Amino acid sequence: MNPEELVIVQVYEFEDEAHLARSVLDADGIDSKVLGSETAGFGGLTNAASFQLVVQKDLFERARDLLENAESDDVKESVPAWKCKCGEEVDEGFAICWACGCDWSGPPEA
Ligand SMILES: [Zn+2]
Repeated sequence: MNPEELVIVQVYEFEDEAHLARSVLDADGIDSKVLGSETAGFGGLTNAASFQLVVQKDLFERARDLLENAESDDVKESVPAWKCKCGEEVDEGFAICWACGCDWSGPPEA
């Protein structure tokens, strides 16, 4: 990979997250690289607490789309415990009420 053609797709606070994202891209055949604090200075960024996921410039759009899709999957999994309008308590992680089949439609009303 030519370092001059690398662009940052996403910046992560934790190295694990960055590597997870990298594996998402890898699964789709996109070659990417995680730059950590030890490479501070890359592209003028010197934030020591971040890890940058970089890809070749021409793969940027695809990489970004893939990561956006991966992130929306995460959102689905992070449904909190909620109470359905039918009165059923639904456990965390389930977006559909098993009693009446209603979808979780956001945080419960106070
Ligand atoms: Zn229900």
